[in-house]
Amino acid sequence: MTDPVKQYVYSFAEGDGHNKMLLGGKGANLCEMTQIGLNVPPGFTITTEACLAYLESGNTLPDGVMKEVREQMTTLEKLTGKGFGDAHNPLLVSVRSGSAISMPGMMDTILNLGMNSDTLQGEIEQTGDERFAYDAYRRFIQLFGKVALGIADEHFDEPFESIKKREGVKEDVGLSADNLKEISEVFLEVVHGQTGRPFPENPYEQLDLAIKAVLGSWSGKRAVDYRREFGITPDMANGTAVNICTMVFGNRGNDCATGVAFTRNPGTGENIFYGEYLVNAQGEDVVAGIRTPKPIAQMREEMPDIYRQLEELRSKLETHYTEIQDFEFTIEKGILYCLQTRNGKMNTQAMVRTSVELVAEGLINKEQALLRIAPESLEQMLFPRLDPRADVTPLATGLPASPGAACGHVVFDADRAVAQKSVNSRPLILLREETKPEDIHGFFVSEAILTSRGGKTSHAAVVARGMGKPCVAGADGIEVDVAARRAHIGDVVIKEGDIITIDGTSGNVYLGAVPTVEAEFSEELKTLLGWADERADLKVMANADIPEDAERALRYGAMGIGLCRTERMFNAAERLPIVLEMIVSDTLEQRQAALDKLLPIQRQDFIELFTTMAPNPVTVRLLDPPIHEFLPSENQLLDDLIQLKHLKDTMRGSEVLSATLSLLSNINGKIAPIQQLADSSLVDEAIEKKEAILKKVRSLFEVNPMLGHRGVRLGITFPEIYAMQIRAVLEAACACQKAGVEVHPEIMIPQVCTSEELKSIKVHVEAIRKEVELSEGVAPIFRFGTMMEVVRACMRADELAQEADFFSFGTNDLTQATFSFSREDAENKFLPMYNEAGILQDNPFEVLDANGVGKLMKLAVGWGRGVKPDMKIGICGEHGGHPASIRFCHKIGLSYVSCSGPRVPIARLAAAHAALLESTQ
Ligand code: ADP
Ligand code: MG
Ligand code: MG
Repeated sequence: MTDPVKQYVYSFAEGDGHNKMLLGGKGANLCEMTQIGLNVPPGFTITTEACLAYLESGNTLPDGVMKEVREQMTTLEKLTGKGFGDAHNPLLVSVRSGSAISMPGMMDTILNLGMNSDTLQGEIEQTGDERFAYDAYRRFIQLFGKVALGIADEHFDEPFESIKKREGVKEDVGLSADNLKEISEVFLEVVHGQTGRPFPENPYEQLDLAIKAVLGSWSGKRAVDYRREFGITPDMANGTAVNICTMVFGNRGNDCATGVAFTRNPGTGENIFYGEYLVNAQGEDVVAGIRTPKPIAQMREEMPDIYRQLEELRSKLETHYTEIQDFEFTIEKGILYCLQTRNGKMNTQAMVRTSVELVAEGLINKEQALLRIAPESLEQMLFPRLDPRADVTPLATGLPASPGAACGHVVFDADRAVAQKSVNSRPLILLREETKPEDIHGFFVSEAILTSRGGKTSHAAVVARGMGKPCVAGADGIEVDVAARRAHIGDVVIKEGDIITIDGTSGNVYLGAVPTVEAEFSEELKTLLGWADERADLKVMANADIPEDAERALRYGAMGIGLCRTERMFNAAERLPIVLEMIVSDTLEQRQAALDKLLPIQRQDFIELFTTMAPNPVTVRLLDPPIHEFLPSENQLLDDLIQLKHLKDTMRGSEVLSATLSLLSNINGKIAPIQQLADSSLVDEAIEKKEAILKKVRSLFEVNPMLGHRGVRLGITFPEIYAMQIRAVLEAACACQKAGVEVHPEIMIPQVCTSEELKSIKVHVEAIRKEVELSEGVAPIFRFGTMMEVVRACMRADELAQEADFFSFGTNDLTQATFSFSREDAENKFLPMYNEAGILQDNPFEVLDANGVGKLMKLAVGWGRGVKPDMKIGICGEHGGHPASIRFCHKIGLSYVSCSGPRVPIARLAAAHAALLESTQ
């Protein structure tokens, strides 16, 4: 079977500038630049297909490749008027690697190829510059020796340095022509000694070896490791191309130079020319840092004519690529050549700024401006970061559980955190082995959370993310000793009050205060996200429980609250006792009395939240967790009781003491305080209370609380709890309405599995609505809906839609329920292994499982909208802030996503991407 003769080699004048897979990024852009008339030295590209064929066949070049190469070389000779191997007017070329994805420093380039003892003379003849010719020669021998013949650098470096030392010169430019001649001769001997063969003199042999070396470097260890490290797969880049490019020289005198430049400042995005150059130097010198280059602005004075050309090149590149370019140039005898260009890598701040400015300049449209920024990358701008200039080594590393950096004084428990905060306002970092719901007040007063146990979805991680506070979880090098108020990290001891810094973006923990830089929600970002909102179909809501979170979410552009977890309101220090009272009470009357105290508090919460968010919707989820979560653990209670009983014994002792003392003389005033201490009735009361709680804890014990007595099941068994919350919502709505504030509260019922549950709750809602309307004199505006987090609820979506005004997918629980994975257990035990073995591609708690959970959602959406075509349907799980999951939500036609406040900007951009990418497909 014969292939129609395959073309493996393309001249820069004919190669397809868009085909980076075939020509590599460097090659494609060399072609593109040549074809739009920029001054690129003539050359050609050997394709990545040749590379793959070469490697697959055990390092033999496919037939015809070298023939094509020779033809191209002949063309180069014609174009340049020089001859390859010509002893009077030699053509020299560079042999450069370059794959579809740039892998800096991973593969090699050989310069000045074609030099040998004859062409060296030709080069001297042509330039009249012996020094230059020998310099080029010795560079070539070394590079070729290293890249094509595999000789280690040190064999060249040692003699080179010793000659420099002997001559007393520090910089290479200090070497004379004679020195360089000597060095070339030594280098030739090195090659002979190392390879057992003389240096190849034949230029075509040189070219053949160089091409093969570059092709082979694709499967070299360095390159393979690099691709693994950065996740570069064959569909992103497969094989390297080889670019053969006529040499131009920036090192032929003071009217020559070489440099690299960005069309704009990549650090800030500012539209100023940015770069560096070296006079009388070859390209690699800039990168290698052998001499200190000058800022590009200086060229305006030093070489005004060239500078003008360079400015022109800069603007042509940007106009053509409509993207910031990072390019290499060389000036030979006053002529400017462009040797490479590629899209400039920038930080997110610069990406956002350039997006907005490129639109203003008319170079790109708003869609392009949005699409060139990866939503996830906005994270860089939304959280404080460690100052990139800080040179520090971490003390310990855990999981990057909630992004952002913070420093503060270590505190080991929540109560002490609150106590310390009330004394002074210095920043705190809560350091615990792991956190529990009862630590929540400690979160509020801390800048950041650090735990030594638990994963990315541990309590600490989830709560910190929700609050937008940095968190490093599971830093298992840290041993926490709460009782002694200290922690050990190896030999380092951290005491309460010591300062540490944590970086929740990297997972690193540092001793002392590392400087941080603030989040920068810039005007440009606001503009860009405004464009995103115009393009997106999905609305973006925030998960926020308290007015403070709501305010922040608003600043990030949240269009409402998609999830307000009311139980988080119960955890504040002054409320917990009332909640306890409610839980521990044995009779309905007792419970009602506690609820009566909670009602005004909760109503006030809602008034504040609704007012903050007005006129946007606020979705209030009624009590969800099993109520024993508000109680201390059985062990804790047993411990406390032992302590109290000890205390009681001690008190008996003090009774004896006071009785005995009264028998002595001269002790007048001293008995009273002892007698007071001996009043044990307080202790008895405390013991009684603890015992009551213990009894309750035991009676509430559940084998599997996550599947137990929680959510709507609580609402049905203790209707008075939900009744209080419903009343608080409706009364708050009325209060706002009467104050002229437009509000749209939504009451959302968790853990529903059948429409009967909704009906049952609705009866209360209806009754309370009537009462409230009567007592307040206005009809409260609200909607009633359900969470979709139980598989059965999805299957019965049509029935539920009869009762519900809206659905909200709680994908955290729905994922647990669909997989039958308990999240904590899965993540701590088997999920990592599942991912590694490829049994599951992603962690379904991070990336929405489109095929399973997503399919269920899609079905439910269809059935629900079958009943109510315009039904509002959203998602409020953590997936709501994840770009790929957001894309899926868009695809199945959800109305909104809801995520933690700080992720709102990411979600807004992702929602726009989802809409834009769909319309381009
Ligand atoms: P890298 O991908 O490591 O930048 P390059 O192939 O771009 O490797 O080349 C390395 C250096 O040599 C760069 O500074 C480049 O500008 C310079 N260079 C490459 N080819 C030529 C050439 N034909 N003439 C002059 N300089 C060149
Ligand atoms: Mg380069
Ligand atoms: Mg849930």
